[in-house]
Amino acid sequence: KRSHTRLPPWLKTPIPNNDNYKRIKNDLRGLNLHTVCEEARCPNISDCWGGSNKSAATATIMLMGDTCTRGCRFCSVKTSNKPPPLDPHEPENTAEALKRWGLGYVVLTSVDRDDLADGGSRHFAETIIKIKQKAPHILVEALTGDYAGDLDQVALVARSGLDVYAHNVETTEELTPMVRDRRAKFRQSLAVLRAAKAAKPTLITKTSIMLGLGETEDQLWRTLKELRAADVDVVTFGQYMRPTKRHMKVEEYVTPATFEMWRQRALDMGFLYCASGPLVRSSYKAGEAFIENVLK
Ligand code: SF4
Ligand code: SF4
Repeated sequence: KRSHTRLPPWLKTPIPNNDNYKRIKNDLRGLNLHTVCEEARCPNISDCWGGSNKSAATATIMLMGDTCTRGCRFCSVKTSNKPPPLDPHEPENTAEALKRWGLGYVVLTSVDRDDLADGGSRHFAETIIKIKQKAPHILVEALTGDYAGDLDQVALVARSGLDVYAHNVETTEELTPMVRDRRAKFRQSLAVLRAAKAAKPTLITKTSIMLGLGETEDQLWRTLKELRAADVDVVTFGQYMRPTKRHMKVEEYVTPATFEMWRQRALDMGFLYCASGPLVRSSYKAGEAFIENVLK
């Protein structure tokens, strides 16, 4: 409780409440879909699921289980070297459930599965193919890991029929060893984003950066330049929030004005669009942003 009161006022979160949100939440019952939005109690749920435009409603689904083979210092997902095997019915069941759920845009993400020879890329791609078969009106964004630098796996997912390929660099090159699992490398992540674009040049590529980890302005500038040089289309910025005391601490609560400044800078540098704010997650209102900036 005390630590909550130390949070700056702009991080206070509203209670979800609007008609579209309530309808979508209601429709979810019985579909056996696990949304990151609900499970992580994301503060943006009424913005993403609600809003006036039903076809822009966005949710994030976690594939390939709840146990990751990596252990990033900002992330609260469970870790194990040997997570349970993949559920072979997941691609079909996910597609079927999404077909019945009233969503316009889905972000599929997953834990990292370094234990699997293909990192889970075929499973991921199969899920996308099935969604596009059963519910072609749904726009699909895949937020993947780095496949340990195996760019053939990236290409496989990139060519599966999705609309947006996202992979998060999370932070600057300098801070990467302190923030991400030791197997995650900044240059490797840039290569993933480049490979996705090369595999399918019409794809929108996207990445996300957490602020408040101790990054300097100069480091952030250089990060954005590197991302543009890798032809990354979209960038998002959000505040790092410490999940528990065992995770790295927040160095700074970045003000809304600073987030807005970085959004403007990103647009000036040629990014197609940019969501930036203290509560922004990489999937924040992704459907709305895609429809406004890409489909128009
Ligand atoms: Fe869900 Fe992402 Fe929106 Fe949060 S920001 S509600 S996780 S889609
Ligand atoms: Fe969390 Fe992803 Fe890192 Fe796994 S790879 S620990 S899910 S951030």
